[in-house]
Amino acid sequence: MAINLLIAGRLPPNVVPQLENRFALHTLPADQREAEALLADIGPSIRGLLTNAAQGAPEWLLRALPNLEIISSSGVGTDALNVPIAEPRGIVVGTTPGVLTADVADGAIALMLASSRRLMQAERNVRAGRWLKDMPLGNRVTGKRLGILGLGKIGQAVAKRAEAFDMPIAYHQRNRNPDVAYSYYDSLIGLAAASDFLVVVVPGGPATENMVNGDVLDALGPEGILVNVGRGSTVDQPELIRALQQGRIRAAALDVLEDEPHVPEELLAMENVVLTPHYTSGTIETRLAMGQRVADNILEHFSQAAGTH
Ligand code: NDP
Repeated sequence: MAINLLIAGRLPPNVVPQLENRFALHTLPADQREAEALLADIGPSIRGLLTNAAQGAPEWLLRALPNLEIISSSGVGTDALNVPIAEPRGIVVGTTPGVLTADVADGAIALMLASSRRLMQAERNVRAGRWLKDMPLGNRVTGKRLGILGLGKIGQAVAKRAEAFDMPIAYHQRNRNPDVAYSYYDSLIGLAAASDFLVVVVPGGPATENMVNGDVLDALGPEGILVNVGRGSTVDQPELIRALQQGRIRAAALDVLEDEPHVPEELLAMENVVLTPHYTSGTIETRLAMGQRVADNILEHFSQAAGTH
């Protein structure tokens, strides 16, 4: 009998073609009532869950899949995957680490440049027929101080790119990295105070929730620019909006928001805010590499499972 897999989130286009001939694929309906009806029918037969980092694996869904063996998720974030519930049940949690590092780092640099050089505002002006009319000057990026919150795979890739901009680089995370020469700050406020750009690239979840609070933004100061490519939950968003409105920081460039896809009107109204829709990993190359990893995680798991029977 074919192994049943459930698709609970949008996937790169190369996942289903690799699995549909070997597994029975079922798609979770978006409508909650229809989803519950399907799960009542086939939930116990589902052995693999295909999802993505944003849609995740909600607790109610995991409860409806008592025989689940593996979650294969497109993305590196695990904050929506309920790992503390999955792992004690022996469910393997597979993600797609590594393959999106370069694109997210490129995206962080693009956001730094777009924000500091006011590129989006300049572009909007040109399209509105205003050329240089009412166009304030931007600020230089080269040589400015870069602070990175989370010098992991992506953070290090951002640092490597920033070196080409002659930026002095510092970072904060829980542990000093002995393999890098960048300055380590054991406090985030200390890092923010020593930075012109603060790039946030820590994982989401309770440990980092609202870490970038009003005190951190004040330490970054009126010349400082916040770039967030990590998770929206890491920044105290109402406090960020206030800090931008009051000129307590210069600008923000945000790829991620609290409560996506809801975008607060206040952010949309400000010229010094650059917004992208959780998009820094959004290249064709990365999507296909992520899709390959999602499919491989499933194929490897079930070929091993078959081998142990
Ligand atoms: P890594 O695991 O390689 O790095 C994460 C870093 O964050 C580590 O160096 C870790 O250091 C630090 N960190 C973790 N927890 C804390 C904490 N509580 N306080 C301070 N520092 C912390 O992950 P990646 O670099 O691959 O990815 C980072 C995050 O980027 C992902 O978890 C995801 O949320 C986000 N992301 C966003 C994407 C987008 O499209 N915008 C795409 C991909 C990822 P230490 O353990 O020493 O604290």
